[in-house]
Amino acid sequence: MVVLYIMTYDCNLRCKYCDIIKTKNNISSNVIEQSFKFISSLKFKIEEVKFFWWEPLLMKKDIEYIINNIPLKEVDYFITTNATLIDDRFMDFAKEHDIKLTFSIDWDKNTTSLNRKESWKKEVYDIVLKNTIQYSPFIRINMVITSTTAKYMVENFNFLYAHWVRNFNFLPEYWSNWTKEWLKDLALGFKEILELYSNWKKFSLINIENYQELPFFNLWIIIDTDGKIYWTNHILSWHFWKHKKELEIWDVFNGLKFDISDRGFAQQYIKKLDFINHTNYSSSIIRSVEYIDSILNNFVNNFQNLK
Ligand code: SF4
Repeated sequence: MVVLYIMTYDCNLRCKYCDIIKTKNNISSNVIEQSFKFISSLKFKIEEVKFFWWEPLLMKKDIEYIINNIPLKEVDYFITTNATLIDDRFMDFAKEHDIKLTFSIDWDKNTTSLNRKESWKKEVYDIVLKNTIQYSPFIRINMVITSTTAKYMVENFNFLYAHWVRNFNFLPEYWSNWTKEWLKDLALGFKEILELYSNWKKFSLINIENYQELPFFNLWIIIDTDGKIYWTNHILSWHFWKHKKELEIWDVFNGLKFDISDRGFAQQYIKKLDFINHTNYSSSIIRSVEYIDSILNNFVNNFQNLK
C-alpha cells in the first residue's frame, strides 16, 4: 500500500496545464504527529511513501522530519518536484535515504515556453536546466507531454538524453481533449523512442514501476494537509473538490472509517470514482483518456518485450 502526503496547496510555478488550485495551506506539525500514530495503527504493510503535487519542496524541513521519524521500516520514498528548489543539502539528504527524486519538466526551451506563464519562462528554464545537468545521474525525469508538445517529444527526449538523463517517466497530459492528429503525434513519438532504445540508447523506463490495473486513478492513502484521508489521488484535481466529502475515508485523528482491504468496499469506491469521472468530464475527454492510456500501455509493453 502507498501513503501519499500532501504537504502544501502552494506552488512557486503557474503552469498553463495545471488543474490544481493554489493556496497557502500547509500541513501542520500536529497533523504530521497524528499521521505517525495513524500509520502505526494500520493492519496492512506500507511499502511506499510519496510526496507530490503542488510543490512539496516548499516544505523541505517537514519532509525531512517525516522521513526521519515515520514509524515505518523497509519503505521506499518518492518525491516529485518541479526542480526549482533543489539544493546540494537536500540532495545529500535524498541520497542518504535513497529517495527516488523525480523532476517533473516539459523541455526543451521552446516546449517549456509553451507551458509556463510568460513571467516564469526564463527563470524557470535556467534554474531547472542547471539543476538537471548537475544532478542528472541520480534523478528521474517526469517528461510531461501535452497535446501541443507531443510532436516535439523525440526532440525533447534527445535533449534530455544529451544531458545525461537516463531514467524517464513519460507523462502525457491525460484529462484534456486530444485531436486525432495529436494522438498520432504521441503514438509516433513513442514508436521513435522505442527505436532509439532498441538501436543504442539505454535508459530505464519508470512507467513500468507505476503500472496499475486501474487506468485513470491510483488507490493510495492520501493524507491531506488538514489530516483528512482519501483513497484516491483524484481529489488533487479541482474538478473533484466538490466530491471530497464523499471520497473521504476519515482522518488521521480518528483512523479509517472503512475497511479498505475489503474487496467489496474497494469495488464500491471504484464504482463511485467512475461515476464521478463520467459526470465531470465530457465523453470526448473520457475517450481521449482511453486512447492516451492505450498508447502509453502499448509503449510500456513493447519496451518490456525489448528488454
Ligand atoms: S509545477 Fe506542478 S503544481 Fe506547480 S503549477 Fe506546474 S504542474 Fe502545477
